[in-house]
Amino acid sequence: MENRIARLQEKIKEQELDGLIINNPSNRFYASGFTGSAGTVLISEEKACLITDFRYTEQAGEQAPHLEIIEHGSQKVDTLVEILHQEKVKRAGFEADFETYSTVEQQLRGKIKDVEWVPTQNMVEDLRKIKSQDEIQNLQKAVDLADRALHHIQSFIQPGITEREVSLELEIFLRKNGAKGSSFDIIVASGPRGSLPHGIASEKEIKEGELVVIDMGARLDGYASDVTRTFAVGQMDNKGREIYNAVLEAQLAAIEGLEPGMTGQEADQLAREVIVGHGYGDKFGHGLGHGIGIDVHESPRLSPISTSTLEPGMAFTVEPGIYLPGWGGVRIEDIVVMEEKGVRILTGAKKELTII
Ligand code: ZN
Ligand code: ZN
Repeated sequence: MENRIARLQEKIKEQELDGLIINNPSNRFYASGFTGSAGTVLISEEKACLITDFRYTEQAGEQAPHLEIIEHGSQKVDTLVEILHQEKVKRAGFEADFETYSTVEQQLRGKIKDVEWVPTQNMVEDLRKIKSQDEIQNLQKAVDLADRALHHIQSFIQPGITEREVSLELEIFLRKNGAKGSSFDIIVASGPRGSLPHGIASEKEIKEGELVVIDMGARLDGYASDVTRTFAVGQMDNKGREIYNAVLEAQLAAIEGLEPGMTGQEADQLAREVIVGHGYGDKFGHGLGHGIGIDVHESPRLSPISTSTLEPGMAFTVEPGIYLPGWGGVRIEDIVVMEEKGVRILTGAKKELTII
């Protein structure tokens, strides 16, 4: 945490600011360790503090020992003014992608007039792209729990059960095993619904002979996982097998070919050319993957238009899919970490077609 604050202080200087306020909850957690729902991190050249109210001061003291904890009264802005003056902050950055127009205009510019408020972007997010060993361990724990949930659910799924029952069982499993919950609305998309890449579990009953796409993840100790497996219920016809194998081939080719220095576009192409080769190029309508960590979706992006460069320490998903409207779909998603020579897979769940 001390290191993160020091690096932010460097970036603040680089941008000719005297301070930065951080209110985005994921960035606030990254900079401080604090998980409460209200609080402002203020970083200046000399100081790093967390301004919060009496509900959270005890928790903040425990979770954010590297920051000075300051309790504010009924108006947080009064306390903020005091500290900005003490620290002689003249130019302060705010998070342009997070703060609302009214917060900036009425609270900051309206009430703290002797400070120049400067919009900033990705100050904290850029640091979050490269994960520390501790973060990768936390991510691994969240992935391990998702793997266990996917293993558990195979003995639960049977013809006649609804998608919602499957998603509820997954959610209960995650919660029972230490997760705060699922890291996003669980996708259970069976049969024709499988062509909806974001087919959140519905009341539809799962039938014999259908493929079921399950996309889920755990939120555990501040980190999120995101894993997809597509199962066959009962027997699978030849078309189902052909499409499954095409997606699997694309996923394995991407994992094999990923290297540091590649752009997100080049990474995407590794899987896309395999799917194009099978004649389904226009049925893979989303990017190959996305960074993951404190948030389910963060930088870098792996897609046909992504210019991000993949670097060692980045964690991201690899999730090609084929979606045929009226028929269904297949997606296979792992989380990987970029290392010096290629990627290491964190996801353990088996990828060959599983018939349940
Ligand atoms: Zn997913
Ligand atoms: Zn994903």
